[in-house]
Amino acid sequence: MCRRGDPGGSVIMRASPFHRSASVKQPAPQDAGSRAGDAPDPTPQPTVPPLARSRIGLGFTAAAAEGRLAMQVCQECGTVQYPAREICTACLSEALEWREQAGAGTILASTVVRRPYELYFRERAPWRTGLVRLDCGVTVVAFLHGACPEPQGRVRVRAQLDRAGQGILVALPEKDDPDMADDALLRELSNTPKGRRVLVTDAATPLGAAMVAELVSAGAAHVWAGVASEKDGAVESFAGSGSVTAVPLDVTKPDTVDALAGRIGGEVDILINTAEYHDTGSGLPDPARAAAEMETNYFGLLRLSQAFAPAMRARGADTPVNAVAWVNVLSVFALSNYPAHGTFSASKAAALSLAQTLRAEMRPAGLRVVNVFPGPLDDLPNQLELPPKIAPGKLAKSIVSALEKGIEDLYPDPIAREWYARWRSDPKVLERELTG
Ligand SMILES: [Zn+2]
Repeated sequence: MCRRGDPGGSVIMRASPFHRSASVKQPAPQDAGSRAGDAPDPTPQPTVPPLARSRIGLGFTAAAAEGRLAMQVCQECGTVQYPAREICTACLSEALEWREQAGAGTILASTVVRRPYELYFRERAPWRTGLVRLDCGVTVVAFLHGACPEPQGRVRVRAQLDRAGQGILVALPEKDDPDMADDALLRELSNTPKGRRVLVTDAATPLGAAMVAELVSAGAAHVWAGVASEKDGAVESFAGSGSVTAVPLDVTKPDTVDALAGRIGGEVDILINTAEYHDTGSGLPDPARAAAEMETNYFGLLRLSQAFAPAMRARGADTPVNAVAWVNVLSVFALSNYPAHGTFSASKAAALSLAQTLRAEMRPAGLRVVNVFPGPLDDLPNQLELPPKIAPGKLAKSIVSALEKGIEDLYPDPIAREWYARWRSDPKVLERELTG
């Protein structure tokens, strides 16, 4: 990769690898023995579904990013609207509000599209689609899971993000079955770690170690566990596992980030950044503590982005397995400053802003940037916070589940969900509540 000697341009996109030609070959696998023997075939250019949506329709996508199905409901007459629109189809009222819908419905008609016009769909044809009459009163066009029944059968419709990060509707059979996730449609929409190679930063922390264990249990082909020092006890615990390799990585040291990217950057399918510096202290914000927090929480993400994002983006359509996702463990304090952890909140707000840039850069290649907003973790820096606090193991499990379900914004615990609801309701009111 060519990252040095180019001081200008976008922070993420200054390097030429974002525009690699189709003839560029990936480096041969070095650490992940599970793929030994795979020839380094040329990487196809990624294609994504059509990106354009009207502004009014983005309310649907915003809910789908959290795994929710939302539709506009008229506050005057209660009519549910689909697709999104400016005024009510029944009474012409402008008072339309996005509300969550259950998604139960009946298939009216179905077909199989074998020769789609759009390139993305053509490369993945055939697609089973159909009309579904939802119990809430609207008829929608949805992609149909292979196990959905014939017309007049009952289905569950849910909202998901497609590879372009836009909300779409997917109809599923009424009941789950164990092989459901193997359906071609759901695999295309999922960012599952199963069969993929994953890099976890700061894997020696309780969250990092739980993340590695959870990925192994979810069937990851290989996990690189980034550790800052070989003296870390975690290195020994990883040594006994054939599918986990401890690798030197300290996000505050650019040479370790660059060296690791040079070694495995062309093989990482999912990157999970759990690196976090969190100190506590009373009184006014302390510049030294703030600098240390920014160094890990903000600049650490920036360094990782510059080192790993170009190659991952170039591998959005790689075969047999492609790069699919980048996970940032942020904090719900990124939304609104919590003065008890004031400079930490500020560093996470900065990281959130940077993550939004990263998301915009990765989206055209079909890569999902997943932002995770936990409430207080059950760890030492949050010792003085009252319960409930989220345990590292539970957070790791939620992150894997979010990858499997294709979720983009994750609020994994009750505190996070409550703060988020209050922030959505009125950010200024939440600020006053938190700052006293
Ligand atoms: Zn109405």
